[in-house]
Amino acid sequence: MTTSLVWFRDDLRVRDNPALLAAAADSAAVALYVLDEESEGVRPLGGAARWWLHHALEDLRGELDRLGIPLLLRRGAAAGIVGGVAAALDAEAVYWNRRYGGPERQVDAEVKAKAEEDGRHAESFQASLLHEPWRIQTGQGTPYKVFTPFWKTVSELDFRKPLDAPEPTQRFRGRLPESEELDGWELLPRRPDWAGGLRKAWTPGAAAGHELLEDFVDGALADYPQGRDRPAVRGTSRLSPYLRWGHLSPFQVGHAVAARRGANHGEAVRTYLGELGWREFCWHQLYHQPLLAERNLRPEFDAFPWERPGRKRSGNDGGASPSGRNANRGGPSAAARVRAWQRGRTGVPLVDAGQRELWTTGWMHNRVRMVSASFLVKNLGIDWRVGEQWFWDTLVDADAANNPASWQWVAGSGADAAPFFRIFNPLTQQAKFDPEARYVSRWVPEYASPEYPEPIVDVKESRQAALEAYQALREDN
Ligand code: FAD
Repeated sequence: MTTSLVWFRDDLRVRDNPALLAAAADSAAVALYVLDEESEGVRPLGGAARWWLHHALEDLRGELDRLGIPLLLRRGAAAGIVGGVAAALDAEAVYWNRRYGGPERQVDAEVKAKAEEDGRHAESFQASLLHEPWRIQTGQGTPYKVFTPFWKTVSELDFRKPLDAPEPTQRFRGRLPESEELDGWELLPRRPDWAGGLRKAWTPGAAAGHELLEDFVDGALADYPQGRDRPAVRGTSRLSPYLRWGHLSPFQVGHAVAARRGANHGEAVRTYLGELGWREFCWHQLYHQPLLAERNLRPEFDAFPWERPGRKRSGNDGGASPSGRNANRGGPSAAARVRAWQRGRTGVPLVDAGQRELWTTGWMHNRVRMVSASFLVKNLGIDWRVGEQWFWDTLVDADAANNPASWQWVAGSGADAAPFFRIFNPLTQQAKFDPEARYVSRWVPEYASPEYPEPIVDVKESRQAALEAYQALREDN
């Protein structure tokens, strides 16, 4: 009997999993998940993500059990652990599905080098993106910086059909290396247990993901081009955490949606695939710009006078920043503005509704994400990285590429960003996309009562101040 090790990461599923298929093809497969909080540069998971991961691993263990494949859990720097477990198993081969972040690629390269040095076969597969980021290039052979031409190229390419789960013929019968207890990882919040709303809103795992996908293609997909902008209705698929954790692959989602092309769903299918295209584009950016969550893609924004609580204003000290003006008028400090935004107490109903939805359920509707992010960065004058980190900590779909790329898009500092001067007005956005205030009253029931506070900043004045700060930045550059 030969043994293969399959190393699970952001691909917590047994169907459409090429690494698992390879491992189970003609050897006894053993699965491993490593909670890596030690490798240099690997971003530690946020709180909501840790909650999701706990349940996701329970689900994966159940799915693997049914295939007779044991799952080992270990914590530590992945490179050493994968090598050690492969050696303890005397595995012939180590398989995994590729990841695209900089530090993760570094770890994977180390694992590969070590496996080969030890005489093991090491192989990785494409499983979480429809197209490998290095394959998609402009006519000049450079990475794309703008979505429209990227999507024009990508949308013309076919992507493979999803693969079935393996049907293992061999089982591992030897002595398994040590595995840790999932409960011992303390991924679930205890004192206080803030996850009640998450439990109500979500069932992590592949079966729940497939159910949602089926419901969506049979229902909301038909009206997706309009419904997707209405936060009060279930107009979007809510598949983002399932894609983030790999309970579903983009191949499974893409094919299920594309299969509805007929029956007048052509435009809906195109629009939805375009959103999967944005996901691909965000990962394309992260692959080529590993510091996407840390650095402005447009360096001229390094001089923008955004504020971060506890830090002096970054960039020039022009005083024309929204925050500078605010401070001059004795308005709330940066820390107070951030706190009000995080807690959904800014006095701006759509922003507060979104932030409360996020805090309660670990998810926020896309339209509201855009409005709320724009309000933090442009009206409250706060550095986008502060908001990005908050989303990273609170979203169940917190994604290493989608999150920073979207924040940079909103902030104007991204490669293909909305121009800075296009500032969402949260009040007109509410009038347009939540005209009967159904969404707002769901999350901010007191919004029409005297208890509801005045806006923390004047929406018009703060917008004007942001534009002036931007103008000053342009004149200086
Ligand atoms: P649907 O409308 O059903 O879209 C289907 C899928 O396409 C999504 O599940 C997602 O995987 C992908 N997608 C949709 N819109 C985008 C987009 N604009 N960019 C990239 N992929 C997209 N998405 C995340 O998955 N993780 C994040 O951490 C994240 N952070 C965001 C932060 C900000 C400030 C903004 C404005 C957007 C962010 N998004 C993020 C993108 C988007 O808001 C979510 O993907 C979407 O709301 C998820 O809901 P859904 O699955 O119902 O989307």
